[in-house]
Amino acid sequence: ASISAADLEKLQVLGHGNGGTVYKVRHKHTSAIYALKVVHGDSDPAFRRQILREVSILRRTDSPYVIKCHGVFDIPGGDIAICMEHMDMGTLETLLKNGVVFTEQLLAKICHQVLSGLEYLHAHKIIHRDLKPSNILVNQKMEVKISDFGVSKIMQRTLDPCNSYVGTCAYMSPERFDPDTYGSNYDGYAGDIWSLGLTLLELYMGHFPYLAPGQRPDWATLMCAICFGEPPALPESTSENFRSFIECCLQKDSGKRWRATQLLSHPFLSNVDAKSA
Ligand code: ATP
Ligand code: MG
Repeated sequence: ASISAADLEKLQVLGHGNGGTVYKVRHKHTSAIYALKVVHGDSDPAFRRQILREVSILRRTDSPYVIKCHGVFDIPGGDIAICMEHMDMGTLETLLKNGVVFTEQLLAKICHQVLSGLEYLHAHKIIHRDLKPSNILVNQKMEVKISDFGVSKIMQRTLDPCNSYVGTCAYMSPERFDPDTYGSNYDGYAGDIWSLGLTLLELYMGHFPYLAPGQRPDWATLMCAICFGEPPALPESTSENFRSFIECCLQKDSGKRWRATQLLSHPFLSNVDAKSA
């Protein structure tokens, strides 16, 4: 049976995003809980385009590591709503802000799932383009899922690097700023791997790797650091496998960066039990 907007009762606001709001909702008949992302139809046409893009991607994905979409509604008045599976622990960003300590073991479990999601997306020619802690959702079962496909891209033929300035600059890879210098074998997928590397590093260190704790980003300086500086790395106190894994993700030249499938067999992940992870 398909879900209709009238069957859903709003319980609380889960968060605000670009041009819309995400609510926790309950299905009046089944009592099932969902997350409902509502985007205002009269908002900026760019937001409307984003949500339609997100819908088209969610509709063509079916993976345990990618957030599921249970329905899309046009609400009278012009609003658009996406009914998604609800993740009851929120985002990795929230967990970090709430003081959760991400040990290597925990990060390996998280990483295995995010990477499985990326492998799935890349195999289906989808580039996420905005991977970061606030776009990765978690539930009580410690299931980890990729969400937020507002700026993702479905690859048809080749990538136009000039058209690739989307997402949060901070997590963008060097080749997205300068494909001529850092983009050997440039096809776009490797950008997601860079963002994964930065995300893991941030969760481990407790702050964004290119900035000191609490430091505010200055975009020009940040972009220079990403393009001209050494990539950030883990301290010596971490395991060799973890350090090597991050290094494989944070190769500045996209051609040298490992692919999702390769990374899944990296020794850092060899102790993760895929079933219990
Ligand atoms: P941002 O610019 O921060 O990425 P956004 O426009 O992409 O925001 P979303 O990421 O879709 O908007 O949602 C905003 C917030 O709502 C998230 O940060 C998260 O806290 C919450 N949220 C979104 N989807 C879900 C979900 N399926 N389950 C639980 N919480 C969710
Ligand atoms: Mg988001």
